[in-house]
Amino acid sequence: QCILACPTASLSEKEHISEVWKAISDPDKVVVAQTAPSIQVTIGEIFGMPTGSFVAGKLVSSLRRIGFDKVFATDVTADLTIMEEGSELVERLLHEPEKLPLLSSCCPGWVKFAEHFYPEFLPHLSSTKSPHEMCGALTKTWYAKKYGIDPSKIVNVAIMPCTAKKYEAARPEMTSDGFRNVDYVLTTRELGRMIRESGLDFPNLPDDNYDEPFDQYSGAGMIFGATGGVLEAAVRSAHKLITGEEMLVPDYEDARGQSGLKYGTVKLGDKNITVAIAHGTGNAKKALDMFKSGEKKFDYMEVMACPGGCVGGGGQPILGTRDHKYISLDYRHNRADTLYNIDKGKNIRRSHENPRIHQIYEEFLDSPLSKVAKKYLHTTFTPRGKYAYLNKETPHEEFNKKD
Ligand code: SF4
Repeated sequence: QCILACPTASLSEKEHISEVWKAISDPDKVVVAQTAPSIQVTIGEIFGMPTGSFVAGKLVSSLRRIGFDKVFATDVTADLTIMEEGSELVERLLHEPEKLPLLSSCCPGWVKFAEHFYPEFLPHLSSTKSPHEMCGALTKTWYAKKYGIDPSKIVNVAIMPCTAKKYEAARPEMTSDGFRNVDYVLTTRELGRMIRESGLDFPNLPDDNYDEPFDQYSGAGMIFGATGGVLEAAVRSAHKLITGEEMLVPDYEDARGQSGLKYGTVKLGDKNITVAIAHGTGNAKKALDMFKSGEKKFDYMEVMACPGGCVGGGGQPILGTRDHKYISLDYRHNRADTLYNIDKGKNIRRSHENPRIHQIYEEFLDSPLSKVAKKYLHTTFTPRGKYAYLNKETPHEEFNKKD
């Protein structure tokens, strides 16, 4: 068995390839794959394609040929994450300023870091689940009911950029109606090995489309894969929620680029909010320490544990191996640039414009932050490390008592 290590050096997990093969060969199971936005611009590199090649169609095609019954785009629930997190941001800006800054929480590497080292900031984390957990939750509830499938027969396999997602999927709170949201997580490299084991000629596969109803997504859902993408996507929808109008230019250039810690200002109607974007836990630490000392204030911060965000995740292809004829030292730039270019060319660039998001709210969730949405799409965090060890009341617990 192969042990894969997280680049943040905080996590290690075993691979799940054999369990996934077993599920696929079980005729009683409905095995669903979901693919994170960043995988569409990285997996081609395993098969010698240039860095940042956009291969969503071949990715879907390879998963079908491997034997998955359905192939879903996690990008759809990235749009849903934005609807919920953007609504939280608006709620806090308008009614709960004591809960600012809002801190993103879709990166499990960062969440674990905060739980260990900054528990006093846990009440500030968005309670919104990450996109793959939302996809798993909806697959075993709304989707299962809609298509008449027994949820106990569904096996949800998430193709993700990192090993930290394996840990996240195993968290006890990541369940819906008694079922684990995501059963197995495979990294990009693990899926690459399955594609090789299947003998598929990846670069020459035809392009296939994702399966309904997790098939249509906005440009905002795609840019989740790059550092700054979550914040940029959330701001696009928060503007509409606060002002009732669309941002004239959806691009927020200050959120882009590979600089480790960025600050900026965003105009949301008559409000100017300050934002921060950190990638790498060292930069998150810097930002939080400066916030605590009063040196820097911000209303909303996105944190990604990996340099470059998920396009630089620890489960992504490692460049410099025999398969990479097109090595680029700017590989994270190349991968992120592809996501931004595709976003630019899309008709739908804002999460709230995605027709699938409208459908999910109409048929199941009602509205962002509704009772049903909170039940299935939101989570909690746990102080760990010395706080847990000393069994001491933490700022997080004190805060929860007030609710
Ligand atoms: Fe995983 Fe890294 Fe993305 Fe966080 S930033 S979700 S640790 S790949």
